[in-house]
Amino acid sequence: MPFTPFHFGFGVFIFAICPFIDITAILIGTVIIDIEGVLYLLFKIGVEHGYTHSLLGVMIYLIPCTFFSWVFYKLLEKITNKKFRFSWLYSGVSSLLGLVSHVIFDGSLYPEMMIFYPFSQVQGHIYGIMSYQTVIIILTSMFALGAIIVFVKSLLRFKFEKKLLISYNLILSTELEKALPNES
Ligand SMILES: [Zn+2]
Repeated sequence: MPFTPFHFGFGVFIFAICPFIDITAILIGTVIIDIEGVLYLLFKIGVEHGYTHSLLGVMIYLIPCTFFSWVFYKLLEKITNKKFRFSWLYSGVSSLLGLVSHVIFDGSLYPEMMIFYPFSQVQGHIYGIMSYQTVIIILTSMFALGAIIVFVKSLLRFKFEKKLLISYNLILSTELEKALPNES
């Protein structure tokens, strides 16, 4: 559970390198299954890494994740009065990537996890494939690298749009000059 925020690193990095990824859906996907951990730690319901911390179990969050993302964009459109692109397919794929990544990273950290449940109830299938430190380093680096890529991409887009606006204004003023009657 204290580990939960580290999962965001995967979402940020994948969003940075794949243009079709829905950032909201993937970020929700990377952390939502720790609801199981919250329920256990606060109310002693279930176990910390139970049925939803498995490759099949995690699928119960696929539709909610995608739906939350859609709701988020709808709200954002209302608040900002701007149109946002939304695709159920891309958001679904983004949610799926986030959800599965959580199971894989957690699976290597917690020996009690049954990632192939209900097909196999063997625990710790992939436990130890990466050490705790390695997972922390991977996810932190993904977060940092992803954030840098997103920043550079936004900067380049801003500069390109500015350049485009300047050339558009230049063309417009030349056209206007041509259209105006010659005073001499
Ligand atoms: Zn977890």
